[in-house]
Amino acid sequence: MNRLDQRSYFFDAGIRFACRRCGACCTGDPGVVRVNEQEIADITAFLGMSASAFDDAFLCSWNNEQLIREADDGRCRFFEDGCRIYPVRPNQCRTFPFWFANLRAEARWHDIRNQCPGIGTGRLYTKNEILDILSRSCDRSL
Ligand code: SF4
Repeated sequence: MNRLDQRSYFFDAGIRFACRRCGACCTGDPGVVRVNEQEIADITAFLGMSASAFDDAFLCSWNNEQLIREADDGRCRFFEDGCRIYPVRPNQCRTFPFWFANLRAEARWHDIRNQCPGIGTGRLYTKNEILDILSRSCDRSL
């Protein structure tokens, strides 16, 4: 089987990225943010909330997964003039925009690039770094 790092991609030369914390990916169209037990524990500790209060206020479940609830306008419930939980944000948020769904086709990447002002700025992520982030991102099945 071909190793992923031996294949050629449109990002072979790497991609520059630095999050501007503009919130464009945390607001707008509805989305799904998955959280695992460790992430829930980290966020509740950061917010100083009990697990049950956090569950009532911020979580819902779907297909045996725990998700962060959204506000009615599609905004992440933690986005209020910036991300309230940025230091402990879930892996799914941490690995954006380097998701399989975004990188599987160059045309899709161009769409994401138009939505995220951080792409094309900041430090250069090498191909191998991007593949490593991809392997840790949550959406490989998308
Ligand atoms: S859209 Fe891009 S720059 Fe803006 S918060 Fe999301 S990742 Fe950061």
